[in-house]
Amino acid sequence: MSTENALLKRLKNGGNLVVAEGYIFEFERKGYLQAGTFVPEVTIEHPELVMQMYEEFVHAGSDVVLAFTYYAHREKLRLIGRENELEAMNRAALQMARQVADKHGCLMAGNISNTTAYIPDDPESHAKVEQIFKEQVVIAAEGGADYIVGETFGHFGEASIALQAILKYGKGLPAVITLSPPATDTMIDGVTLADACKRLEDAGAAVVGLNCGRGPETMLPAIREIMKVCKGPVAALPVTYRTTPQEPTFFSLTIPGTKSRAFPLELCTCLCGRCHIEEFANQCREMGVQYVGLCCGNSANMTRIVAQGYGRTPPAARYAPAMEKHFIFGDKTKFKDTYTEGIRAHVGGDFD
Ligand SMILES: [Zn+2]
Repeated sequence: MSTENALLKRLKNGGNLVVAEGYIFEFERKGYLQAGTFVPEVTIEHPELVMQMYEEFVHAGSDVVLAFTYYAHREKLRLIGRENELEAMNRAALQMARQVADKHGCLMAGNISNTTAYIPDDPESHAKVEQIFKEQVVIAAEGGADYIVGETFGHFGEASIALQAILKYGKGLPAVITLSPPATDTMIDGVTLADACKRLEDAGAAVVGLNCGRGPETMLPAIREIMKVCKGPVAALPVTYRTTPQEPTFFSLTIPGTKSRAFPLELCTCLCGRCHIEEFANQCREMGVQYVGLCCGNSANMTRIVAQGYGRTPPAARYAPAMEKHFIFGDKTKFKDTYTEGIRAHVGGDFD
C-alpha cells in the first residue's frame, strides 16, 4: 500500500508550509563560506555548524529542513577544484537534514538550483545541465528527501529541465520549482513569470512560484499574477532586502545615499526590518500563499516572524520580543519614572 507523500499531504485542503532558505548568505555572514564562489564547503568542513543551522531554523518555525546542497553541483565545484567531493558534500547535507527533520517531525527537502551552465540556444548545454541535475537528484532521493526543490532559475528553459530531471530521476518525489524573478516580469528567455509558473505546474510541478532575486515589496505583485493563473499551491520566498520598483532585485539595489551596487557585500545596508517581514507574512497569508519563507538574508529571527504570522508557535516564540518589559521603553506603570521618563528624555527622539 502506498502512503501519501508528506509534502502533498501537508498542502492539501489549503494547508501551508513555512520554509527557511538562505543558508549561503547566512554562512557567509558567519565567516564559513566565500562570497563570490558561494559554494557550501561548510557542509564537509564544519558539518556541526550546518546541523546547528538546521536546528536553528526549525526552532524558529521552519516546517521543512532544506538540505544545504545549493550550488553543491558539478559546475560550481569545478570552480573551486572540489568536484571529487560532490557526492560527499551532498550526502552529508542530506543525511544531517534527514536527522534533524526526523528529530522534530519536519519534512526534508532535497535541493537543486541554477547551474550557471545553461545556454538557451545550445542543446549541448541542455544535456550537460540535465546531467548536473540528475547527479544531485539521485543522491537526494537516496538520501530520503520528502520532495525536491529546484530553485533560483532565471531561465524558464533551465527550470523546465530541472523539473523533468526531478520527475525522471527522483523516484516519484514531488517537485517544488521556484523561479528567481529578474527586474521585469519576464524570464531571461522571454516567458512571463506567470506563464512560466503555469507551464511548470501543467508539466507536473507540485508547487510553483518565486524565490530569491526580489525582496517582499517587489515579489508580492508578481505572486498575485501567478496566483491568478495557477491552480495549485504557490510559493513565495523573497530575499530580505528592501527592493523597490526602481531597484526591483537585490542585484540592482544601491547602498542608500550612493550610486554603488550593494550586491552582495553591502546588502546589509538594505536589510528589511522585522516590520517588513511581518507585513510580508501577513499579506501572503491573506493571499493564500501556501508555501512561504525567506531566501538570502534570512535569519532565525525573521523565520520566526513568518512562522508566527502563519499561526505557528515554534519553540523560539518563547523568546519573541516583549518590549513592554524593557526598563526604559516598557510599560510605564511597571517601571520607575526615573527610567521610563527620565532616561527616555535623554536618549533622543520623541516617540510618545
Ligand atoms: Zn536567495
